Formats: sequence, C-alpha cells, structure tokens
Amino acid sequence: MLELQNISVFYGNIQALYDISITIQQGEIVTLIGANGAGKSTTLMTISGILSPRHGRLTFLDRQISGLMPDRIVQLGISQVPEGRHIFPALSVSENLDLGAFLRRDHAAIAADKAWLYGLFPILEKRRQQPGGTLSGGEQQMLAIARALMARPKLLLLDEPSMGLAPLIIKQIFEILIRLNNEHQTTIFLVEQNANLALRIAHRGYVLENGRVVLHGDAAGLRNNPVVQKAYLGM
Ligand code: ATP
Repeated sequence: MLELQNISVFYGNIQALYDISITIQQGEIVTLIGANGAGKSTTLMTISGILSPRHGRLTFLDRQISGLMPDRIVQLGISQVPEGRHIFPALSVSENLDLGAFLRRDHAAIAADKAWLYGLFPILEKRRQQPGGTLSGGEQQMLAIARALMARPKLLLLDEPSMGLAPLIIKQIFEILIRLNNEHQTTIFLVEQNANLALRIAHRGYVLENGRVVLHGDAAGLRNNPVVQKAYLGM
C-alpha cells in the first residue's frame, strides 16, 4: 500500500533520514520505534507531504506521492494524527470533527461517520459541545484520532499517541486502534517511543536509530530480539 524506497530527508544541511526503506501492506499495523530524535516524526511528516525527501521514492497505492501537497495526500487517503494532538482548543469537539472532513462534500456520509465515531468514542459525544481545550489529555488524543478518521483514511498515521497519558487511557486508545484495524480494515502506521506497547499491537515493526532503519521484522520476532529488549524494552 505504502512504500518508502531509499528515502533521505534533510533540514537544510542537516540530514535526518538516511536511505530508509519501509513497506506497509493493506490491513497491517506497522510500528516505527526509536529513541528521541531518531527521525520518527520526520518519517511521518515526509509521508504526509509536510517534508519532501531529497532522494528516494515514495509510493502510495502504486502512485508516486513525493512532492504532492499535504491536502492532496489526505485526499488520496492518508491522514496523520500529529504528535501533541494539535486539536483546536477554542472550537467545540463537534467542530473539531467537522474540520477533519474539510475536503469532503458527501454531507450525508460525513454525518454518518460522525455518528459512528461518537459510538467508538462515547466520551466525545458527551463532550460534543465543549471547547476542545477543556478536554483531558486522553480525551484530546481521542479527538485527534477521531478527527483524522473523519477524512476516511485508508492509511492512518499516528505520532506517539501514548505520550503523556495514564496507562488506563493508553489501553483504551490502543484497544480502539485494534478495533479499527480488525473491524474497519484501517491500515495503521504507528510511531511510538513506547516500544513495549507498540510491538504488542503491531504485526510488524521497524527500528530507527539516528535516521537509519537498523532492524525490521514481525513484531513477535522484534520483541524477542535481545538487542531490542535491551535498548527499547528495558530488559
Ligand atoms: P521525538 O520522539 O523527539 O519526536 P523523533 O524520532 O520523532 O524524535 P525527529 O523529530 O524526526 O525525531 O528528529 C530527527 C532529527 O532531525 C533530530 O536530530 C532532530 O534534531 C532533527 N530535526 C527535527 N526537526 C528539525 C528542524 N526543524 N530543523 C533541524 N533539525 C531538525
């Protein structure tokens, strides 16, 4: 579905990604794990068109997407849940969700999707008239995910959804990701510093170190890999 082939990305003269190759198949949950500054957010921002690769090929559903504008990439079916959530604090929960559908014109389907998302995240329905800024961190993360889903993505990109949240909330959010993948066939690319959690729900994973993919494989294999256990699983 998505293929990064030998992608290199720079910030000015500073190289952040070195020749990375990642493949995501339809229906998979794939995780990208790595320490602070490894290049995880850079990878996601490259896929969503916020950054452009200097070298390499980026294809989505057999079409070259590098160089396309971010809104075009959303239209093609890729939505990102950004690190730090970035919901609109002064807008209501309902208005935040409407903005997720800003490129769509199918009004009846938009309303149906909103109702579906309120079913998936009942707390958002309860708070639908409240300003987004008054929500707890976990609720804001749910809103950010629901807003991304309002674009009906084929591929959902998530940047550190567990960051700063209590274990119980993280569990709820990860259960919803599993449901989205199982029941709605949403393909998920999950960037996480919490490798333990990520490798539990993912089918496959990639390990990024200093802008390079140093390991990849099925999630169970990575969980049992001594190098991963020592560096990322705290064993
Ligand atoms: P974190 O978990 O802290 O978000 P990350 O793995 O997502 O880390 P990136 O944010 O992608 O890492 O950063 C990768 C590298 O690129 C780091 O060395 C970082 O300092 C550098 N970098 C990121 N953004 C910029 C920028 N705007 N200008 C220059 N260098 C940057």
